[in-house]
Amino acid sequence: MKALTFHGKETIRFESIPDPGIILPTDVIVKVTLCAICGSDLHAYYEHEKGLDHGTAMGHEFVGEVVAVGKDVKTLRIGNHVMSPFTTNCGNCFYCNIGLTCRCIHGQLYGWREKEKGLQGGQAEFVRVPMADSTLMEIPEGVTTEEALFLGDILSTGFFCAKQAEIKPKNSYAVVGCGPVGLMAILGAIEYGAEKVYAIDTIPERLERAKQFGAIAVNASAENPLEIIKAANEGRGADAVLEAVGNSASNKLAYDLVRPGGIISAVGVCTDQHLAFRLPRLMIKTLLTK
Ligand SMILES: [Zn+2]
Ligand SMILES: [Zn+2]
Repeated sequence: MKALTFHGKETIRFESIPDPGIILPTDVIVKVTLCAICGSDLHAYYEHEKGLDHGTAMGHEFVGEVVAVGKDVKTLRIGNHVMSPFTTNCGNCFYCNIGLTCRCIHGQLYGWREKEKGLQGGQAEFVRVPMADSTLMEIPEGVTTEEALFLGDILSTGFFCAKQAEIKPKNSYAVVGCGPVGLMAILGAIEYGAEKVYAIDTIPERLERAKQFGAIAVNASAENPLEIIKAANEGRGADAVLEAVGNSASNKLAYDLVRPGGIISAVGVCTDQHLAFRLPRLMIKTLLTK
């Protein structure tokens, strides 16, 4: 089959790799109909993740059709149209039982192989999905393939970010970064009842989209987000900051923007070695950081 494979810093190849087959009786094979590139794929692309095997098929966001099922698969059939979260899950462990399936003790991230162990990714014609009954979901009727593609990571991560922010209608919220996840976090916050969501970015098209979604756009290259939020909130910072970037500058901004006793809900994958602020500073602001 053809796949987009990792070959080191800024090197992705479109090449042939072996077709996946059923290995365990709980596996299924999915023929990919659509896949996406996640912001976290870019960490591997730009920073050359140490440990990631060359030749690994990239990507963890895909939807497709079941084309083969292992003999112990109970709920899925050939021909089912399915979506997947970015990791596999057993459905039985402590984390699966509390709904935190991305921390399943048996879970694996698609598109991550080290020393030939791990899973191939979804930017390929076919994907092997272990623990398929608990990992995959049939795409519900009325949800398009394009919509379903967002459910596995971008939309669900954005909504989770908003959920952690413990939204209350009258409070003020700041979303740092209006890429796909930040935009979905805005939608999530508004869905949870937020009336004042400040969307911070420097890219005009993203800010425009944030505005369409109901946020108040703040262009950080022209305006001071902290002053704007404080002016609108009796001199306090934001009640919660939804951090959807994941670098030291965005972490620092989140820290500066949040009021004492507020929440930083961080979902941006951060590969920086050091925090942008010293941990005791969390105590100084009596912060809850999620
Ligand atoms: Zn992703
Ligand atoms: Zn589990």
